[in-house]
Amino acid sequence: MKNITIHNKTLPIPSFFQVLNYGGGAGDKTRELVYAYLSENIPALLNYYYINNEYTHVFQSPYFNNILSFNTIGDALNYVKQQIITKDGSFYKKVDIQPCDFNKKVILLDTGSSNIVKYVAKECNYNIEKFKTKIVEHAINYYNFANRLKFDMVVAFDLGGKYTFKDNEANNLNLQTFYTQLNNAEINHLLLKETIKYLKHNQKFYPYVLATVHGDTPSNYEIYTKEILKLENIFEYNFFGFALGGIASSKNIDSSWYDGIEFSKNKKVKDATLPARAISIVHNIVGNRYIHALGCGGYPNIPLNYYCGASSFDAASPARRVGDGNILSTKYIFSPKIEIPPHAKFSKYFVGGYNSDNSPREENFDYIPLLDVDNNLTLCGCTACNQIKSISDLKTLYSLQANNAEAFYYARQLMNIHAISQHRKLCQIISLYNSMKDFYNSNPNELNYALLSIYNQIMSKKDIC
Ligand SMILES: [Zn+2]
Repeated sequence: MKNITIHNKTLPIPSFFQVLNYGGGAGDKTRELVYAYLSENIPALLNYYYINNEYTHVFQSPYFNNILSFNTIGDALNYVKQQIITKDGSFYKKVDIQPCDFNKKVILLDTGSSNIVKYVAKECNYNIEKFKTKIVEHAINYYNFANRLKFDMVVAFDLGGKYTFKDNEANNLNLQTFYTQLNNAEINHLLLKETIKYLKHNQKFYPYVLATVHGDTPSNYEIYTKEILKLENIFEYNFFGFALGGIASSKNIDSSWYDGIEFSKNKKVKDATLPARAISIVHNIVGNRYIHALGCGGYPNIPLNYYCGASSFDAASPARRVGDGNILSTKYIFSPKIEIPPHAKFSKYFVGGYNSDNSPREENFDYIPLLDVDNNLTLCGCTACNQIKSISDLKTLYSLQANNAEAFYYARQLMNIHAISQHRKLCQIISLYNSMKDFYNSNPNELNYALLSIYNQIMSKKDIC
């Protein structure tokens, strides 16, 4: 697949989507919008649950209270950014904040369905029959919302695959019983049908729609994909592409995903296998159609994702690794290691990857604590690195937390956007090669070798999928 155009915006293939979670957290999430001009040409994924204040949630922003009064999601985000700067003053005053037009970005809307399922379940007093009716209403509201705000793309509404319990939810017996009784497959089938009917009736629906695929085993993934194609035929409606869910984490997954695959000791490669396998299964069935792998855009995954057939992917890992740092660590960023208390956790900096001139960097890919990054490490030349002169500068900003929290947040966003830029750079590099083998031959390193080995095994096992 080559670059595509969506609503007059170019989307390179493959593309890494930055996750913007304003409304889903404080601190860094707010500054993601402030410094978005440093990643202006990188597409973004937003979570419906976080930006829709109809669902009351912990970090909801009052600036989203009238979100439906805007013509586009880009206009809404432009407004929010302006409010954060002028009303909240949440930016580093020594930086000349540049404008960023969010309308230029390709923006994908994801449902945040696991939170919505909990919300609706409670609303229905954990009654399954009521839930079935209500959840369809929520799905229709979701599509109306996406259409009204002219999102470029949307992930079709479904229940998701597996549920995790947060905080006190493990003690919520009503919710637990509800999950046990919930027939996900049945309700997802119903939602898929209702989605197609809605889209057939709304021929001018603005966003490009990605049908969501789930399945706890390779064979169920295959069955689900074929089911979507069957419904497409029956209703004579074609989705734009597919969004693959439930494959971002390999925790507690069915062991059959690894059938016939031998791993090297590289843990990063093992985590990349599940999405690659799922993408390969779907790609074999749907051919050269658009595939987005939800949450699967971690750096080591990218080559496997692409050569197995994915067009795009997202990941919050750059932001999460920055979030690994705590405030205590800011006091010790220039201290000798021996003086550092065990509770001081440093934000992690992406090392490895490529320079802006496409030359490979000497370090192997990793996220390492900022403390351990050499003050003289050469910067990569990305938009974030171009804001500072050295790693020392970055550490100084980080160290200013006690007197100027905004300097600290700025340092964290520079680290976040540097990592995101590296993900985008890898997408650009791999698009230059027609095969995983060609990519490896020109970019030989330990990680790519391990990825090539997994890729060859997945391809040779195609028949068992
Ligand atoms: Zn950089």
